[in-house]
Formats: sequence, structure tokens, C-alpha cells
Amino acid sequence: MMNKYDELTDSELLRYARQILLDDWDITAQLNLKNASIAIIGVGGLGCPVAQILARAGVGYIHLIDHDVIDESNLQRQVLFTHHDVGKYKSQTAKHILENTNSFIKIYATIQKITHDNIADVIDKVNLVIDCTDNFAIRDVINQYCVDNHLPLLSNSAIGEIGQIALFEPDTGCYQCVFGDERGDENNCTNTGVLASTVNIIGSMTAQIALDFLGRHHNPIKHQLLIWQGKTLTLKKLQFHQSKDCPVCYQKQPSS
Ligand SMILES: [Zn+2]
Repeated sequence: MMNKYDELTDSELLRYARQILLDDWDITAQLNLKNASIAIIGVGGLGCPVAQILARAGVGYIHLIDHDVIDESNLQRQVLFTHHDVGKYKSQTAKHILENTNSFIKIYATIQKITHDNIADVIDKVNLVIDCTDNFAIRDVINQYCVDNHLPLLSNSAIGEIGQIALFEPDTGCYQCVFGDERGDENNCTNTGVLASTVNIIGSMTAQIALDFLGRHHNPIKHQLLIWQGKTLTLKKLQFHQSKDCPVCYQKQPSS
């Protein structure tokens, strides 16, 4: 799918100069980004800022997956789209915008709703899957797929003024370990509402975690669920571990 690059071009060194200047970010980290591949599922309120930041920062391969079209009511928070885009497909529209933003990277768009039956065909072999959907059933399908294929899963959500982020790896436990079967009502932005800033704060923090993970191979929230409360500007971290009752990931482990 991707060539392995061992250097940055002069144009890339110029483009990413402010990152490479950082004490904690060097050419190796930038090269790691260039060689990284990700799938972003859901190009809405969360997917827009995540995709935009990661494209600008230099993630080499970005696959955008969304079956939906842009609606007038999306424009309040979905920062990649304008009123000219209403009625167009989100993944395709975002692809065109991001290609103009950074021509050094490869971006693919898939217009498809993820299901249990098609996920293996839709998601390529990437280094990181980022779940930006707002639907429990699809989240479960993505979680199962990532566990089965030992893929790291960066999962986020936002509703009202509250947001959550976790980065699941094969040794941390999975989405099901944290949330179990108690998901409450199916609350999403359509029936509950969401403040414009919430999705963009959560999307930006998700991008920060993705950059750290892809560029420096570091999980800054290992075993932690990040919870943001916008009204009080509070960020909490809750510890989690693999659940021995988890039907998704626990039985996948070789018995010792
Ligand atoms: Zn689990």
C-alpha cells in the first residue's frame, strides 16, 4: 500500500519545519508520520478536526470512511465544510479539501457505512484506526475488528459539552472492557445536541494523541479514559484495565 520512505524531501523539511524544530519532535518522528497510515471512520464533528490536523502535520496515508452527506445542520461544527458542500458526500469532500491542504500525503475516501460484513474489506492494513463515529453498534463492530486484527484503536466521542477519548492497544483492554454492555440510551448529536467547541476540542486532543503515537510510538493515555467537561473546563483521567469478563478481547488471549 505504501512505500517505506527513509528521508524527507527539501519541500517537506520546509513544510514541517515548526514541528521538526521542537525539542521533543525530530526528523525521525516526522519520518515516522510520513510512513504512517491511518483510517478515520466518521468524517463529522470529530473526524473533521482529526483529519485536518493529521493531514497538515504530515501523516502519510489517511483513509476517510463515511457514507453520509453534508447537511445544513452539520456546518455549525464540522470545520472542513461550507454551505457550498451541502448535499455532497463528507468523505469525498474532505478528501478534496485535504489534498489541497497538503499535497505531500495520500488521502483516500470511501463512501460506505461500516458493517460487520464489510469492515475487513473497507479498512486496509493501517497503523492506527480512529473511531469518530456516533453510533454504538458501529463502535462495537470497529472494536471487534481491531481486537481480532491486533490494531490499535483511538476512540473518541462528544455529546453536549462532554467528550471522551481512549487509545486501546492489544495489551490494554478494549472498548468493551471499559463500557461493557451498559451504554444507556443511544444519545447522539442528532437528538441531544453538541456545542461547536466540544467536538473540536476532543478532535484536537485526539489528534495530539495520534501524533504522539504515530510519530514517537508513545501512548500518552495508556490504560486511561480521558473525560472532558466543557462547562467546568475540567479534564479527568480514569484508569481502566482489561476485563476478565470481556467477551471481545479476553478470550482472544492465549491461556497461560
Ligand atoms: Zn475487552
